[in-house]
Amino acid sequence: MQNFVYHNPTKLIFGRDQLEHLKNELPQYGNRILFVYGCGSIKKIGLYDQVIGLLKEMNVHTFELSGVEPNPRLTTVYKGIDICKQNDIQFILAVGGGSVIDCAKAIAAGTKYDGDVWDLVTKKKEAEDALPIGVVLTLAATGSEMNSNSVITRWETNEKYVWKSPHVYPKFSILDPAYTIYVPKEQTVYGIVDMMSHVLEQYFHTPTNAPVQERMCEAVLQTIIGTAPLLVEDLENYDLRETILFAGTIALNGTLSMGVQSDWGTHHIEHALSAVYDIPHGGGLAIIQPNWMKYVVDENVEKFKQLAIRVFDVDPTGKDEREIALEGIKKLRQFWTSIGAPERLSDYQIDDSNLELLADKVMDGGEIGNFKKLNRDDVLEILKMSL
Ligand code: NAP
Ligand code: FE
Repeated sequence: MQNFVYHNPTKLIFGRDQLEHLKNELPQYGNRILFVYGCGSIKKIGLYDQVIGLLKEMNVHTFELSGVEPNPRLTTVYKGIDICKQNDIQFILAVGGGSVIDCAKAIAAGTKYDGDVWDLVTKKKEAEDALPIGVVLTLAATGSEMNSNSVITRWETNEKYVWKSPHVYPKFSILDPAYTIYVPKEQTVYGIVDMMSHVLEQYFHTPTNAPVQERMCEAVLQTIIGTAPLLVEDLENYDLRETILFAGTIALNGTLSMGVQSDWGTHHIEHALSAVYDIPHGGGLAIIQPNWMKYVVDENVEKFKQLAIRVFDVDPTGKDEREIALEGIKKLRQFWTSIGAPERLSDYQIDDSNLELLADKVMDGGEIGNFKKLNRDDVLEILKMSL
């Protein structure tokens, strides 16, 4: 392991009927808030009215930013920053999925930054401050509710980057599984793929000696694998939603990567894909991840064998190490297919016409990955395997 300091300041408020906590949490941050949400799902599930009702009870001066798009765009971040600056906003309340939270994080840091917030997203500058943020989560997927990451897209130039800052950890996050009950099947699957991919990115880490972290990753993966097939057949099952919601948060709140460097190669490739084609993040990951695994398997066959046996129940009898490893990867693909995830770029009508452009976009910050460093040719090969 590497030396590490772990400090996650987000207060997690988990369970049924927890929205009332807003009344305890909000007042400490001021009474001029920006309420950020997406394209309407919170109205359909009645959450919008509940939040507005509570804010009125608290006599909070509320401004709204709606219409945050999946794969949130820089233009929307600018709108939010304008509202914050013009109205002296003291606190941002993000109600929605990862896109809404990530957008709120960029607004929070951008409001306290004198230059263009894109400098922060592109890591030309580091955020030195941010407005405080609170979250009411409606979708199990990204872990953004309890981490310091944000992913923003500049659609005009087809760029999508992840940036992070300790200043944008949510102060609190309210996670009520009931809000996730009506997430459509397709979106539920994307969320499941995303959280599994987060675990895999951390499982394939450097340095190698991290047995506790690996066992924790395996436990999260096994739990998701046991739960997801039941959930996609029974979407309104509260207990299954609860398990998946908690798994998504644990998958990317830093717990699994203490003392290790995660890989993130698959996520890098996917960000280029959704920057150019605006496909769902989880859909892109389902296509890329198993191909990344096949491509890098020889970097540490032993590790892939461990995953295959411990998580995918591959029977090792009569097989060599590599066969076991590859069977594990095949089982991951079969699992994702079985719950309805896409398999190939052609599932999104993406052909080979932009592969070079995609590879350039993936590489624009230099080599990617930690478990195995990948250059442009490697990335092109993985993209070709994914057609
Ligand atoms: P999302 O983009 O926030 O939401 C996807 C869709 O689900 C939206 O159409 C949204 O509709 C709908 N939705 C949300 N809650 C719903 C509910 N309760 N019922 C019905 N529909 C609901 O999805 P996400 O997967 O959470 O976030 C994806 C983004 O996060 C991507 O940009 C990805 O790159 C990024 N990401 C961030 C991190 C991180 O650590 N920060 C990690 C991985 C990925 P409405 O718009 O109408 O609400
Ligand atoms: Fe992700």
